[in-house]
Amino acid sequence: MSGRVVVFTGPSGVGKGTLLRAVLANHPETYLSISATTRSPRDGEVDGHHYYFMARDRFQQLVGAGEFLEWAEFAGNCYGTPRQPIQDQVAQGRLVILEIELEGARQVRQTFPEAVQIFVMPPSLEELESRIRLRGQDGEGAIAQRLAQAKVEIEAADEFDIQIINDDLERAVAQLEAILFPSFEPTPAEASSLAGAVS
Ligand code: ADP
Ligand code: 5GP
Repeated sequence: MSGRVVVFTGPSGVGKGTLLRAVLANHPETYLSISATTRSPRDGEVDGHHYYFMARDRFQQLVGAGEFLEWAEFAGNCYGTPRQPIQDQVAQGRLVILEIELEGARQVRQTFPEAVQIFVMPPSLEELESRIRLRGQDGEGAIAQRLAQAKVEIEAADEFDIQIINDDLERAVAQLEAILFPSFEPTPAEASSLAGAVS
C-alpha cells in the first residue's frame, strides 16, 4: 500500500495553517508533517506539535546524518522535514501533507515527483502584510524578510500543479477540501464543524 504526498506552499501569513486546520479537522487520518526548525517558538507554539524547535548545531547534525527529506533556510532560520515519519506514513497508505516553503518544495519535486504540489496565493501583497501584522507574532525585521520572500515565492507560483487564492476563507477551505478529498461527502455534523472552523 502506498499513500500520497501533498506539498502545500505559499508565503508566510497567507493562511496555510488556517486552511489546513479547517480541512484536516474532518480528516484525522491525514498525517501533517512536523518540521524541525531553528526559529524560536511563537506564543502558543508547542515543541513536538507545531515544530521540533532546536539549536542550529543540532539541526546541522541532522542534515549531516541525512535525516531530512528536504531542508532550506528561510528568513534567517533553518527548516527541515524529518524523513523517517514521511516514509513510514506513506508506507502505511496515508495522505501526508508537507507545509513547506519554495526551496523545499523544489527539492521534493526531485525526490517525490508524483507528489501533488499546491500553492496558496494571497489576494494582494497589501492583504498579506495586513494578515502577518494581525497575527501579531513577528517583529518588524521578520515581517520585512517574509514580505521580500513572498514576492520571490509568488513569482514561482506557476511551477505548482494547483493554485488556490485564499481570499474568502470559506471558499478557499471548500476548494482545498475538494482537492485533497475529492470523494468526501461531509455528514451534516461534519459540515457544521467545517463551518465552525472557518468562523
Ligand atoms: P501561514 O500558516 O500561511 O503563515 P496563518 O494560517 O498563520 O498563515 O494565517 C495568517 C493570519 O491570516 C492569521 O491571523 C489568520 O487568522 C489570517 N487569515 C487566514 N486566512 C484568512 C482569510 N482568508 N481572510 C482573512 N484572514 C485570514
Ligand atoms: P514560519 O516561521 O512562518 O512558521 O515558517 C516560515 C516558512 O517556512 C513557511 O513558508 C513554512 O511553510 C516554511 N516551512 C515550515 N516547515 C518547513 C520545512 O520543513 N521545510 C521547508 N523547506 N520549509 C518549511
